[in-house]
Amino acid sequence: MSGLTLGRRLMDRLAALACFSDEAEGLTRLYLSPSHKRAADALAGWMQEAGLDVRLDAVGSLIGRYEGVAAAAPALLVGSHIDTVRQAGKYDGALGVLAALTAVEALSKSGERLPFAIEVVAFGDEEGVRFPSTLRGSRALAGTLDASALDERDPEGISVREALVAFGADPAKLRASAMTREGVLGYVEVHIEQGPVLERASRPVGVVTAINGARRLGVVVQGTAGHSGTSPMAMRRDSLAAAAEMVLAVERIAYQTGDVVATVGSIEARPGAVNVIPGETRFTIDARAPSDEARDAVVGRIENAIDGIAARRGLAVTITQAHRAPATACDANLIARLDAAARAAGHEPVHLPSGAGHDAMAMAALCPVAMLFVRCAGGISHHPAEAITIEDADAAMRVLLNFLRTYKP
Ligand SMILES: [Zn+2]
Repeated sequence: MSGLTLGRRLMDRLAALACFSDEAEGLTRLYLSPSHKRAADALAGWMQEAGLDVRLDAVGSLIGRYEGVAAAAPALLVGSHIDTVRQAGKYDGALGVLAALTAVEALSKSGERLPFAIEVVAFGDEEGVRFPSTLRGSRALAGTLDASALDERDPEGISVREALVAFGADPAKLRASAMTREGVLGYVEVHIEQGPVLERASRPVGVVTAINGARRLGVVVQGTAGHSGTSPMAMRRDSLAAAAEMVLAVERIAYQTGDVVATVGSIEARPGAVNVIPGETRFTIDARAPSDEARDAVVGRIENAIDGIAARRGLAVTITQAHRAPATACDANLIARLDAAARAAGHEPVHLPSGAGHDAMAMAALCPVAMLFVRCAGGISHHPAEAITIEDADAAMRVLLNFLRTYKP
């Protein structure tokens, strides 16, 4: 055995970065907050110690460049984000940034230069907790962020632009922060799985095939409110009983279709009294799949089923779309190379879609993207109980180093 040197190094850094929190209890590190600044400063120091050239871009992403054999070669970008949700775990985001840093540090220590440059990227705005929209870091690098996204304000009335200046970034350089297609070979992100698939399969790592596209629908079922004591059962138009049937239809239809997931996460019956038949019920549907075609087909079947249930019960129903994001396919070459790198490290990887969104979605507008998932305990994320083992951290480091050493565009 290796003694888990790289895994230990990575776990130590994850613990150190987790000390930078906006709250005394637990880890909360919002975009452009004082703790984000302190985390970025610490990371910049570690990058410099590892021999990287460090820069801060217009939207607060920290980037450390490790030159290849020839100067100014195109770069492979490797990273993730260092902002967190409120009361977060230590690994979501930070794992990908610190794995990239630890890998490049290992190359740098042994004086190894590759035929391409590597840029370690720490985005700051992935979780979208502080401002209304998100992925500002990756969208700025990809050149798809409109300057108007810097005018958004947080609940305290502070604009992104003002927060960036306080952070030490220069929002006027937004255009100059975009990378060129010629300068970038691809983007690779290591991330905890945030789901139970790897644990169930007893594998430390997985290679992501696609990041699921999502659609969110709002459903309003209109029945008739009435007295619960005086309305005979056969004469009711109960919107909540109809919605219950619809919720089960959503589950059944998604269940029948491999890789598609659909969830009713919120439901509200009105007027919401113990002795009144609910006249109106509203609920949400969130449907995701690695391909837009598969997801749209399932959503179509769900819509038909809902219409059928409403018609049979004599109720009116309206379905509106609240959100739609396309699926992002991962690059076939990067997938094959990550797969080979995992096998060379002795780990047959699971190939799986990502159910959660990531910076890689925005980076796909610029370059080929891929993700390596690392097993996490119980599939838990966005929670202090988030955990990975030192053995899995070490496995991920070996896979990433194998990948970097063998990567060819
Ligand atoms: Zn994340």
